[in-house]
Amino acid sequence: MKPLSSIAVFCGSNTGGSVAYTDGAVSLGESFADSGIKLIYGGTHKGLMGVLADALLESKGHAHGVITQRLYAKGHLHPKIQAHEVVATMRERKGRMAELSDGFVAMPGGIGTLEEFMEVWTLNQLGEICKPLGLFNINGFFDPFMAFIDHMIEERFLPAEHRHSIVVESDPKRLLNSLQHYQPIGVPKWLPNL
Ligand code: AMP
Repeated sequence: MKPLSSIAVFCGSNTGGSVAYTDGAVSLGESFADSGIKLIYGGTHKGLMGVLADALLESKGHAHGVITQRLYAKGHLHPKIQAHEVVATMRERKGRMAELSDGFVAMPGGIGTLEEFMEVWTLNQLGEICKPLGLFNINGFFDPFMAFIDHMIEERFLPAEHRHSIVVESDPKRLLNSLQHYQPIGVPKWLPNL
């Protein structure tokens, strides 16, 4: 797999209830800048997205925002990012972010974050894209989510191998490193009937 030059980050438009989340966003932004990886994201100054972009820009990294017309009109665009594009809808935005990115990371966030992550995981599972993806598991935020994924496996809605098709990491440098060395699992999504 070619080295990753751009990664999309999905994360909260709120900052969350613990300083661990903002600290994590800062360390991920710095890690992107140190690794020379371009950040593709929602383009806003809001919430963890804003904290992430600020830290990356402070460390001389590069950010490309894809924002919807509605959020742009509300003044949500981060004023300092180097590049941005305005698209009509959230759907179009996700498609564009996926096109621009060599891989994906989700940080703690709300339903928007989860929806974006699940879409790219599903596209990978069906083979429509083949791009590494991971969860930045700050403070064990994603442990209950992964427990639900385990429940899907136990109930035979998901092959166990697919749990390991994503990286789950609490350290940003190890997360980026694991994404760089990602190997597709090559296991079909369908299980034999009982
Ligand atoms: P949520 O996790 O529900 O806060 O939603 C965050 C995700 O939805 C982000 O990854 C963005 O892609 C998108 N999003 C939500 N609010 C905004 C906003 N104000 N500006 C840009 N993107 C947003």
